[in-house]
Parts: sequence; structure tokens; C-alpha cells
Amino acid sequence: MNAKEYVGQVIEDLVKNNPGEVEFHAAAYEVLNSLIPVVEKNPVYMEEGILERIVEPERVIMFRVPWIDDSGKVRVNKGYRVQFNSAIGPYKGGLRLHPSVNLSIIKFLGFEQIFKNSLTTLPIGGGKGGSNFDPKGKSDREIMRFCQSFMTELSKHIGPNVDVPAGDIGVGGREIGYMYGQYKKLKNAFENGVLTGKGLTYGGSLARKEATGYGLVYFVNEMLKDNNIDLKDKRVVISGSGNVAIYATEKATELGAKVVALSDSSGYIYDEEGIDLAIVKEIKEVKRGRIKEYLNYRPKAVYTEGCKGIWTIKCDIALPCATQNEIDADSAKILIENSVIAVGEGANMPSTLEAQKLFIENKILFAPAKAANAGGVATSALEMSQNSLRMSWTFEEVDGKLKDIMKNIYYNSKNAAEEYGNSGNLIVGANIAGFLKVANAMLEQGI
Ligand code: GLU
Repeated sequence: MNAKEYVGQVIEDLVKNNPGEVEFHAAAYEVLNSLIPVVEKNPVYMEEGILERIVEPERVIMFRVPWIDDSGKVRVNKGYRVQFNSAIGPYKGGLRLHPSVNLSIIKFLGFEQIFKNSLTTLPIGGGKGGSNFDPKGKSDREIMRFCQSFMTELSKHIGPNVDVPAGDIGVGGREIGYMYGQYKKLKNAFENGVLTGKGLTYGGSLARKEATGYGLVYFVNEMLKDNNIDLKDKRVVISGSGNVAIYATEKATELGAKVVALSDSSGYIYDEEGIDLAIVKEIKEVKRGRIKEYLNYRPKAVYTEGCKGIWTIKCDIALPCATQNEIDADSAKILIENSVIAVGEGANMPSTLEAQKLFIENKILFAPAKAANAGGVATSALEMSQNSLRMSWTFEEVDGKLKDIMKNIYYNSKNAAEEYGNSGNLIVGANIAGFLKVANAMLEQGI
């Protein structure tokens, strides 16, 4: 069997053994196909069954999350934690609270996390979790009761040296706080390295909140510089208005670009003069409101219902920071027709496989999620280091390390692509660079 046949076989078995898990299939398909030249050069990965092992999670935990809403009614949600790979460190990855969450989505995210975490060069394995709980419209007390119930079960499976969850969609500082409070009570110990994205009063890291968005812009800026393009004065469209989008907007604006659009799951705003981020922070971080409310502060801006239209806005740089599959082939074609220069993925897998292919074929500078948004989890690993040291670093120290990490991820991905005959393709490069460290650790640790 040659490398191509081997990869084909692993994909075929994966689809057969995980029926209906389309998001997981897509993520695995992208990574495995990138690895054909790697297996060609190093048949040991085939001989030792590394690929069929790496696509099977080490452990999947699924549990009931019962809680009581404000009217006294009993509610039940599904809880998940997929502990995918611990070859290079404790499982690490966020928790997502969103009605769309199912096993396939958590597995795709956990699988991506293995390679992303490896790319950071820090010692963290891959995992992901969450629930189909919908935080939208829930009161603060309901959020607290849900988080406590979720942690009551999750606490049996995690620990600072075992598995370290963090935030993702629907999970920010407030939720991590409630979860940590419950964990501490159950363990009767101050083990704050068990979660990252914590508040600054109990072991959180400065710059963690900003890290994914800032890291994305550091990565894109590095990619632009390497191609002799200046970020200054570029028109940028960013989808989403959560943590990633807000801090990508902040950094891009600071570096002289003009961000003209942001969105949420209901629609998008367009502000020709450039988004006023203080307003967005007030709406999203303080009031927990909808992006539409931006018009109350800036009547000149335009609001459009629905999310897809955001990609019809002419821009030099597109930063999808909302969710998976938000850029399909149609949107990619419009972006390309509108002469987009670069696309940087802040969300996880925001471009479909067809959209990715179009960007690469049309020579658009494309920064894939697992490289470009790795700044968040990298800074989580820095938070773990600080917790172990029982110390905290300054904002500048953490931000400086983040900058270096993003630069290294860019060049490691670029060089891996070159070495394996796919020069300029950062999708392939990131997959290969992330894979090699994990695969070699697995080889050394035996079957
Ligand atoms: N949810 C983020 C991600 O997709 C961060 C995970 C973490 O900090 O552990 O990488």
C-alpha cells in the first residue's frame, strides 16, 4: 500500500466508523490529505498506524447536565468532553456552549486542537468540550446554575495535569469563574491550573482575553510583511463580535487598518468611517446585547439582517471570526471577485473545504485557523505556566511572547509547506508542522 492509498483507507474507515459526523469528516479529510507527502517520506507513520490512531479520540465523555431555570422548571442539556490526544501534554481546549453543539462538532474541534496546540510549540495535548445549552437570553443566575451542574460531572475527568478546559463560543470570563468556583468546592483545593481564561483575581493571565484576536492580526501581519504588503490603510471586514472579533478589530485598527464591518448571529453592521470599538465593547461586553444596537449610537452605519451578506462587502482583508463554515464557495468567489488580498481565519474552520480550495487556487494569502487563531490557546498555556510558578507576568511580557509565538507558527508552517513540496500553502504547512511533533511523540511512546 502506498501513502495515498493508506490515507484513502484511513478516511474511508473514519467515515464508515463515525456515521453522520460531517464536520469531523471534513476536518479529518483536510488534515489527512495534507499528510500524504509526509507518509511518503516517512513510511514509519504507516507501519506504526499513526493515522488510524490519531483520528480516534483517546476518550469521549458524554453526560447529562440537569439544571433549574428561573421559573423553577427542570431543564436538561447534553454535556461533552472529547479527550483527543495527550501525546505532548495534558488535553487542552475550550468549552463551547451553543445550541448547535453535538458530538461531531466537538470531535472536529478537538481534532483541530491537537495540531493547533502542537503548532504553538508549548506542551499541550488536544481536547474540546461543551454543551447544546443556549446562553442567549438566559439570566446570570441561570448561567451560574448551568455552569455548576456542568462542572459537577466534568470535575471527575479534568485536572491541571490531566485536562485543562477554557472558553470558546458562549464561554468567557463569567462562565469560567462559575465553573472554577464549583471545581474548587468539589476538590477542596486551590488548583487553578485546571482552567484557563480565568479572572485576574484568581490566576488569570493578562492578555489572555485579547490573545486570539491579537494573535490573528500578528499572524496576518507577518504573512503580509513576508509578501511585501503593508497592513496600514487596508480595508478589513471581520465577522463575529465576540472575543476574537473584538480584539482582532482592536489590533488591526491600532496597526492602521480600517475595520468596516462586524456581525453577530442575527446580522451585520457596516460603518464606512471605521467601526467604533468602544461602542461594540459596551454593547457586547457590558450589556450582552445585539450588534444591531450599534445604530443607536451611530445612526449613519447600516445594519443588514442575516450573516452571509457580510462577505459581499468589498475589502482587502477578510477575517472570519464567527463560526465554522461561514464562508462557502459562493462567498469565497465574491471575495475573490472583489480582489481580496488575504483571508485570516479567527474562528475554527470558518471556510468550507471548497472555499479553501478557491482561495488557494486564486493565490489569495490564506491563513488557516489552526495556525492563525492559535494565539488564544498559546496564551492559555502561558497562563498554565504562570499558575505553576505561582507568579504572574506583565501584559507586555505575555504579549511579547504571543508575538514571537505567532511569528514562529507562520514560519514553521511556511517552511513545512516548502519542504514537503507545497510552497505557499499554509493549510498544508500548518497541518504538517503540527502533525510531526505529535506523531513523533506517539512513536516514541509505543502502541
Ligand atoms: N477555544 C479556543 C480555541 O479554539 C481556546 C482554547 C484554550 O484556550 O484552551 O483554540
